[in-house]
Amino acid sequence: MQLHCLGTSGYHPNEQRHTTCYAVPAAGLVLDAGTGMFRLAPLLQTDRLDILLSHAHLDHVVGLTFLLSVLHQRPVETVRVWGQRSKLQAIREHLFHESLFPVQLDVEWIALEDRVPELLGNGRVRWFPLQHPGGSVGYRIDWPDHSLAYVSDTTGDPIADYVSVIRGVDLLLHECNFRDKQVAWAEKTGHSWTNRVASVAQVAAVGQLALVHLNPLETGEDPVGLDSARAVFPNTVVAADKLVLDF
Ligand SMILES: [Zn+2]
Ligand SMILES: [Zn+2]
Repeated sequence: MQLHCLGTSGYHPNEQRHTTCYAVPAAGLVLDAGTGMFRLAPLLQTDRLDILLSHAHLDHVVGLTFLLSVLHQRPVETVRVWGQRSKLQAIREHLFHESLFPVQLDVEWIALEDRVPELLGNGRVRWFPLQHPGGSVGYRIDWPDHSLAYVSDTTGDPIADYVSVIRGVDLLLHECNFRDKQVAWAEKTGHSWTNRVASVAQVAAVGQLALVHLNPLETGEDPVGLDSARAVFPNTVVAADKLVLDF
């Protein structure tokens, strides 16, 4: 299977990166709906689209308003947006307030508390709470022959409960907004730092780690201090917009 990175930045876009959005086209799956959403249309190949939201911070949801354009370019029969009930309510009341965006989307909004998402290709979804201001959720998705986990946003911790849930996945996408020297900032803002994320991957014994939700102020070639991650978990890559990961 292939995962396309449509947006790999946290907070705001920069010249190289849009905000958080990932697609698994074969399963009609999108993880989070940041500004990278505008890139989705040419990748669509199914008649159903399932969008799993981690939380409602703007860098993860503003791209929902781009769906009009995406679905105009490539219509899809059914679009379902999944998230925690309180987050979906906030999005519908505020992001889709008529003063902010004048058109209602033709999508189904489904609370995770009401129903477990089932994905195309027999994808089984498990979601779990994450520590983050206002709360966030992560996802583990198992298809018969492939698995991935998406953990964003949170302060990564190898002894947190979620680590046992993501154990052994083929591909872990984990946020890494800060470098090791910025631990204080990471803890203050509810985000992760490089070395810690690598420890999570090591303890969870995942196949591959992709660092996502990168700091938009890091515009150089090495936005996280990758050596620090690889010293702990060698099979680590830094995600980039338009990167395609096989898993
Ligand atoms: Zn974020
Ligand atoms: Zn957030």
